[in-house]
Amino acid sequence: MVNPAHSVSYVTPTRTSAWGTYLAQVDRIIPYLGDLSGLVGTLTRPKRALIVDIPIRMDDGSVQHFEGFRVQHSLSRGPGKGGVRYHPDVTLEEVMALAAWMTVKNAAVNLPFGGAKGGVRVDPAKVSRAELERITRRYTSEIGIIIGPQRDIPAPDVNTDAQIMAWMMDTYSANVGGTVSGVVTGKPVALGGSLGRVKATGRGVYLIGCDVAKRRKLSLGGARIAVQGFGNVGSVAAELFVQAGARIVAVQDHTGTVYNAKGLDVAKVVTASRSTGGLPSLAGADVISGDDFWNVESDVLIPAALEGQITAERARKLKTGFVIEGANGPTMPEADEILEDRGITVVPDVIANAGGVTVSYFEWVQDFSSFFWTEEEIERRLENILLPAFHNIWDLHLEQKVTLRTAAFIIACRRVLQARSLRGIYP
Ligand code: GLU
Repeated sequence: MVNPAHSVSYVTPTRTSAWGTYLAQVDRIIPYLGDLSGLVGTLTRPKRALIVDIPIRMDDGSVQHFEGFRVQHSLSRGPGKGGVRYHPDVTLEEVMALAAWMTVKNAAVNLPFGGAKGGVRVDPAKVSRAELERITRRYTSEIGIIIGPQRDIPAPDVNTDAQIMAWMMDTYSANVGGTVSGVVTGKPVALGGSLGRVKATGRGVYLIGCDVAKRRKLSLGGARIAVQGFGNVGSVAAELFVQAGARIVAVQDHTGTVYNAKGLDVAKVVTASRSTGGLPSLAGADVISGDDFWNVESDVLIPAALEGQITAERARKLKTGFVIEGANGPTMPEADEILEDRGITVVPDVIANAGGVTVSYFEWVQDFSSFFWTEEEIERRLENILLPAFHNIWDLHLEQKVTLRTAAFIIACRRVLQARSLRGIYP
């Protein structure tokens, strides 16, 4: 069960829910925190959580209400930073976990940010474009009291994109009476967005995948890769791995699962997944069951969809060499232990998918100086930040004989708690 010392009255996490997963991850590293362990309560509850009502005039004239959230898990190391997710299953508990993982991620990479996340409980496929814009604008207005370029900076996440960021930036700017481009990242380049931001998360997954492959002496030429989730993260990572000689043997998304031992054509998979027929309409691939995805033999598995996908049961049967977490929180705590026992390396989300927020950081910096960098510069800087951060984690994992996730959490949580300690408790 979840450690009762971490309980708050407003959510009831379970061992397998997102917040429960996060708490279990923190529990594992308390013995490594030394004197800082006295401050661990800072990590096991969010600093601030805002729930908002979003009433919208629908196209048919009726009024519908949507639930919105913005959670600032920690502001100890800087302004809150993290995406906004649109999904029919979003809950406060989930957003709390996602915000906390942003705290850990930003600290693991040493970005000068705390951690935050937002969400709106809506299925974007079930509302019109105009309704989506109104939801976005009202949500932004409601959370406007806690966001801002020095306070908390949203960005894209599941089902949100550059256009939604443009509406958020415009709404915030209209409310304060002047253009504030640095209030969100992941904007269109024409509005102060950064080159390379769209591909940054997938590129980070790829860069770290190559690094692990080298360390584990796996040649990417012909390596078999299975990808769950073919959105912005999964498809970009897949494309880069294919360019490096690997084969994408299986892809699963919300429309279905396809398999081809010789390798799938990434561009065609993207087209099929966006078509009305979904992945099953893809020519030249076998359609397999959702459960069978977890039986596919691969060298690398990239979960790049939602949290809680690698359960204990799936972990027991996975036939892969290593897992690179493109999604946030895809592996449940019990599954983590099983994979560790089975010798399957898991590269945790907080470093594997940190490429996105790292380029968000570049965007925020560029917006402040209104001076923009070339794509080459962005890619070079991304590599120069991400790989050393990963090497640090790798070294600690060897030194302390702990998993990469535990090593990443130790490094990140020490940084957060050290900042907390230096700032002191007010009053
Ligand atoms: N949503 C992305 C993540 O989970 C990016 C967040 C950001 O750029 O602030 O890391």
